[in-house]
Amino acid sequence: MRDNFLIFGCPVIEQPEIDEVVDSLKSGWLGTGPKVHKFEEMFEEYKGVGFAMALSSCTSALHLSMLAIGIKRGDEVIVPSMTFAATANAVIHAGAKPVLADCEIKTMNIDPEDIERKITSRTKAIMPVHFAGRPCDMSSIMELAAKHDLKVIEDCAHAIETEYRGRKSGTFGDLGCFSFYATKNIVTGEGGMAITDNEDYADKIKVLALHGMSRDAWKRFSDEGYKHYQVVYAGFKNNMMDIQAAIGIHQLPRIDKYWERRREIWNRYNEAFKDLPVITPAPVEPDTRHAHHLYTLLLDIDRLKITRDQFLDEMTKLNIGVGVHYRALHLHPYYRQAFGYKRGDFPNAEWISDRTVSIPLSPKLTDKDVGDVIEAVSEVVH
Ligand SMILES: *Cc1c(COP(=O)(O)O)cnc(C)c1O
Repeated sequence: MRDNFLIFGCPVIEQPEIDEVVDSLKSGWLGTGPKVHKFEEMFEEYKGVGFAMALSSCTSALHLSMLAIGIKRGDEVIVPSMTFAATANAVIHAGAKPVLADCEIKTMNIDPEDIERKITSRTKAIMPVHFAGRPCDMSSIMELAAKHDLKVIEDCAHAIETEYRGRKSGTFGDLGCFSFYATKNIVTGEGGMAITDNEDYADKIKVLALHGMSRDAWKRFSDEGYKHYQVVYAGFKNNMMDIQAAIGIHQLPRIDKYWERRREIWNRYNEAFKDLPVITPAPVEPDTRHAHHLYTLLLDIDRLKITRDQFLDEMTKLNIGVGVHYRALHLHPYYRQAFGYKRGDFPNAEWISDRTVSIPLSPKLTDKDVGDVIEAVSEVVH
């Protein structure tokens, strides 16, 4: 057994970002400034979009996206039950109701047929999540959106590198939202980005992210003379700092290198686990790019002597960090109490909730680390 704990989702931090953060500290420009602007330009270029707005988190990006498209009290937004709480909470904080939909067992992504069943006269938008980095069925989702005149906000927290039929994630919908949280594919500590080709949405998000001060406030501290700011909304405080962007501008150019390493680990896991009583992730669909953010195993709990939660404990005892992505939203107390959801409502999401475990997939893993994870999984499910 390994003698030190292998952290789940450990980021890779290299010398250039360390130097860049120190440079920010020394320059005294800590808040939103030239490095944030540069990171936004780099992200615009990476995605080939008109506007990228760097924010304090993907949660902020999702929330401000809801407000930008005009979601308000009485509206409904369709969200997968198999996601992180932030997806649904963004809808709630805009005053609207998150209407959950089931996922497909194989892809773990939101099921377009269930989306269609959940559409009512109050539905205003769909928020697909590219789960683990596997693209959703965007052709069906965009078709539904066009047919019912709905907006689409893509939750791309797992999916920076994801592509579907040659098109990049976050560019299908009205807005796409990305996360640079410490465990995500590239990191800024905390941090997020919203992207769009719609200038009105871009302006609204910029203004809302900084107290509702008019767009010119971003240029207020220039040397062109003092400018008064105008508050045009009751805004929020969701801007990214230069200290964060200092990390991002060095992480983004390495995104494909990190992706290659995760893909290598992914393939090694697939090979190692194929004869165990576990279900490995479905093959990557043709003409798509999977971001390989999470490696999720589904435990064949009917054939195993242990429960899923015992698996988590045993792995931890063997010094391997693990995660659960996710226990479906409708099983959590808040959504049950607030919206009356209950077990039985989303059978596929429940099936996954009861069986899923995530094992380490960071580019930081050495070949020996990967071997240790494989050995631990084999031992625990044996
Ligand atoms: C991580 C995550 C978020 C939130 O990202 P933050 O940057 O931590 O706010 C939203 N949705 C999904 C699916 C996530 O995994």
